[in-house]
Order: sequence, then C-alpha cells, then structure tokens
Amino acid sequence: MRTREHVLIVGGGVAGLALAAALDPRRIHVTLVEERPERAGAGTVLAMWRGGRDALDDLGVGERVRATSRPVERVVLRDASGRALHDIAPSLWFTPRADLVAALEAALPSSVTRLTRLVTDSRALATQLGADIVVGADGVRSAVRQHAWAGSAPVTTDWIALRGHLPGPPERVATEWWGPGGLFGTTPGPQGAAWFCALRGGRGATVDPAEALALARGHFADWDPRARAVLATVGEQADAQRILLAPRLRTSASDRLVLIGDAAHAMSPNLGRGANEAMEDAVALAEMIHRHGTKGAPRAFSRRRHLRGQVLRTAASIGLRAATTRHAAPARDALLRTVATLS
Ligand SMILES: Cc1cc2nc3c(=O)[nH]c(=O)nc-3n(C[C@H](O)[C@H](O)[C@H](O)COP(=O)(O)OP(=O)(O)OC[C@H]3O[C@@H](n4cnc5c(N)ncnc54)[C@H](O)[C@@H]3O)c2cc1C
Repeated sequence: MRTREHVLIVGGGVAGLALAAALDPRRIHVTLVEERPERAGAGTVLAMWRGGRDALDDLGVGERVRATSRPVERVVLRDASGRALHDIAPSLWFTPRADLVAALEAALPSSVTRLTRLVTDSRALATQLGADIVVGADGVRSAVRQHAWAGSAPVTTDWIALRGHLPGPPERVATEWWGPGGLFGTTPGPQGAAWFCALRGGRGATVDPAEALALARGHFADWDPRARAVLATVGEQADAQRILLAPRLRTSASDRLVLIGDAAHAMSPNLGRGANEAMEDAVALAEMIHRHGTKGAPRAFSRRRHLRGQVLRTAASIGLRAATTRHAAPARDALLRTVATLS
C-alpha cells in the first residue's frame, strides 16, 4: 500500500527548489524536473525582503543565506539629474543568486527524485510517474500554465533589463535613478557592487547583450554622471533580457495542478520581489499540502496567495511606468511613499 503522496514539480528554479525543500519527505515523495539545472544560479543579486527571509528561515537556510548576503544601510532614489528624491532605510538584504540557489539545493531531502529534461505535457508525465499533483514552477514561459490554461502565453513588453557585477569596495547603499524612459540602479553585490537598468527596446524575443548595452549607453548618456560612470566601467559584460510578464489569471489552481512563482505572477523586476514571492508561495503551498493533502491543496493555496501575486504583478508595472514617465510626479510621489513602507 502506498503511504506517501507524490508531488511532481516542474521547474527547479527558486520556486521549485524551495517547494522541494519545504515538503516533508516522511509524508510526500517529490519528483523535481528541471530542463537546465546549470542555469538556476545565473544572475547577480536579488533584493531579499522580510517575507523572503522568513521563508528562508522556514526552510532552515536563513543563517546560511544571511552569511553571504549584504544588508543595505540606505536606499537612495534620485531623478535622472542625480537630485535625491527620497532616502530610506528599509530592512533589505542583497543576496547573490548563486548562493541562494546553492542553499536551497543543500536543503533538499536526499529522497527527492531529480530528472533533467524539458517537460512538454506535465499531466502525461504525472500519469507516467504516478504523481498525485503537478506543480508548475517553470517560470514566466510556463509550459504547465500554457497547457492547462488556453491563451496564457507570457506578455511581451517593450522593456529590456540589463544587469551585471561591479567589482570594487563593498557597497553599502542601494541607489536608483528614475527618469524618462528608464531606470538605473546600483546595489551591494558579491564582487562589491552590482548594477542594473531597464529601458525600452523593441519587442524581439531575444536580446543581444552588446546591442542592449549600446542602447543603454545612449539612453543614459545625459543622466547623472555617477550612473554614466558605471556604464563606462562595465566593458561589454552584461546580462540582458526582455521583460516578460505572466498573463492575468483568475486562479493559480486547477484539478490536481497548481502554479507557483513566476509561472503564476511573473512581474517586471523593478519591485525586486519576484523571487521573494516565489519562496513565500513555496512555503505556503507546502503547508497546504501537509494540511489538506494533494487533492485540496491547489484551491486552498490559490485562495491564500493568488490575489497577492496578481496585485504585485500589476503594481510592478504601474510602478515602472510611474518611475519612468516625465509628467507623472504625483504618481511617482505616491509610489515613493509606498516604497518607503515596503518590507
Ligand atoms: C533583471 C531581473 C532582476 C530581478 N531582481 C529581483 C530581485 O532583486 N528580487 C527578487 O525577489 N526577484 C527579482 N527578480 C525576479 C526573480 O528572478 C524571479 O521572480 C524568480 O527567479 C522566479 O523564480 P521561479 O522559480 O518562479 O522561476 P525561474 O527562476 O524562471 O525558474 C523556472 C525554472 O523552470 C525551468 N523550466 C522552465 N520550463 C521548463 C520545462 N518545460 N521543463 C522543465 N523545466 C523547465 C527553467 O529552466 C527554470 O530553471 C528579478 C528578475 C529579473 C529578470
């Protein structure tokens, strides 16, 4: 007689790894399928808010992640000319993405079955494996979502994001410049600091890093010299990507299937919350599976987490527009007040 339920997790990024780590191996057997395990740690740093840190504590890796994270003393928001708009002291860390992923990997119970493959039909795979539930943790392009909900392709924006490391002395302040058509930022990072920016750039699915960097250098050419100086020092090293959003969904749950993380609510990255929400989702879903079993968990989870994800996704897009529109001072000020209360 089978004593444990079986959860199939598609996607081994932050959300999938966190869920696999959160499920009790005495009660739940987990199969975790990831197409490209070597990519999970790629990136620079992630802003880590209180909700994400609490999730890390729940997973038993809070101390480990804290050891290589950098807390910020202040976040300074400036306009394009460099004038300070706001200076706040939030409770915020910047965590190297590779360290976060390594900590989540280390937290996986040895009983987790790991498969390396691209999943195209998750329900068929679940039947083949004898899994009771499918969890789509497969990011913004989620095949699980698109298979279960017709017309749920990701939304392509005309924004691109660039980011990279900035070697140097340890940075303790995060700075963001907001101006017409773009935003630019520097944060603490594992090599001292890290930088990022977002600006408008076509709609093509693939973004060439060299072209994106040239576009950014042109766009920010008359901004605060401190921002320009960063772009001058980074050489040709940048990670560039199109900003895609999850489509609006009415629910994250269907029969024996549930979406978490970016698959459910991928948002534009300017709020720095996507990975935090992914881990909070994972901890909440594990709790629902332990409490309700795999049959009741999807809808219980969706009732608890779905609206929040959709609201944040919308808020991030509104925030990006307000931060980067010339005549949006009232909206920008409202946004600044909201940012000041985030934790
Ligand atoms: C420029 C930028 C900056 C960001 N900064 C921050 C920040 O400061 N703080 C923050 O909290 N968040 C930030 N984010 C958001 C954060 O990176 C994401 O929200 C987070 O990675 C989502 O995790 P996930 O596991 O849901 O999805 P993903 O990280 O996308 O993982 C999905 C995984 O599923 C795998 N996969 C996909 N399809 C399949 C398939 N069919 N079969 C098998 N495997 C599959 C993929 O290979 C991938 O490993 C940022 C994002 C960007 C783009």
